[in-house]
Amino acid sequence: MIGDQLGRPLRNLRLSVTDRCNLRCSYCMPEEEYGWLPREDILSFEEMARLVDVFADLGVDKVRITGAEPLLRKDLARLVAMLAADSRIRDLALTTNGVLLAEQAPALRAAGLHRVTVSLDTLRPDRFRALPRRDTHARVLEGVLAVRRAGWPGLKIDTVVIRGVNDDELVDLIEYGRRVNGEVRFIEYMDVGGATTWSMDQVLSRSDMLDVLERHYGRIEPIADDGSAPADRFRLPDGTVFGIISSTTQPFCRACDRSRLTADGLWYLCLYATQGTDLGAALRRGAGREEIMGLIASSWRRRNDRGAEQRLALSDRRRPLIQIGELKRDPHLEMHTRGG
Ligand code: SAM
Repeated sequence: MIGDQLGRPLRNLRLSVTDRCNLRCSYCMPEEEYGWLPREDILSFEEMARLVDVFADLGVDKVRITGAEPLLRKDLARLVAMLAADSRIRDLALTTNGVLLAEQAPALRAAGLHRVTVSLDTLRPDRFRALPRRDTHARVLEGVLAVRRAGWPGLKIDTVVIRGVNDDELVDLIEYGRRVNGEVRFIEYMDVGGATTWSMDQVLSRSDMLDVLERHYGRIEPIADDGSAPADRFRLPDGTVFGIISSTTQPFCRACDRSRLTADGLWYLCLYATQGTDLGAALRRGAGREEIMGLIASSWRRRNDRGAEQRLALSDRRRPLIQIGELKRDPHLEMHTRGG
């Protein structure tokens, strides 16, 4: 296991398989058109699996397939099967907006995917039409049910909470999570690339969320864990567990073991980083396994990023991280390219 400058291990890789999405969430991908990654730069599944294999040699044992929307990548189950065959990867998860999940769930499960997280910000169809600006809410709910019907363990429902937009649905979402046997995780609205209209007054903080839920359910107990998961987990009086990812107001940089590989092979050590290491280019110019391993290990050993903490320190001066013009010039700065 290799450690970075703050002793954080290289363990957790988010693997983005595409920069395309079939939703247009206001906080992530508000424009219709973007500067897309050149098609010919997108790594094949074989190339992705080769890189993951090197990461696994260096200690990565958690891989999350993401994207923009990973289920838009044709035949994703083939990649899942390739990664699932590696016993060093003890946690192989997928994050999806759920629109295409019902039709793909059987193949993904058969291919060996361990668990699924579905992003769902609202239970109200009218709100869904306004938030991600597509008419596919029913398909997302169908996707969640497909996971439940398949008896697939480990379902999580991720909700970005935005003040004045969906902050009146916290209780409804918890109740929904109970019904579908999924653990709900509320995410604080982050000022990452893509969130070009972000402002602090739209952030419902973790403590505000706990207040709302405590008023409804009574005393909420924090659950102690190993501290490496992004979500702090809590238990309601009836035993229901939920999480809060408080990257904006209470960042967890000190425990962050995550890094991100874009679909064209740029490797980022922090969601807020503006520079990455081009592992895709190294692979394509014929770099051998040892060379790629050296590139990864030396970058990780130098890592001292604390992006979310530095953003917090800006306090009143905090504005969207990157402006739309810059994002259009370099799609790698986008949240949807990095996989969130
Ligand atoms: N399309 C997939 C999905 O919807 O889960 C995967 C990619 S998406 C970028 C991953 C996660 O990032 C989603 O849960 C999304 O809600 C979250 N996300 C995107 N922009 C965000 C922001 N500004 N603040 C907080 N979370 C954000």
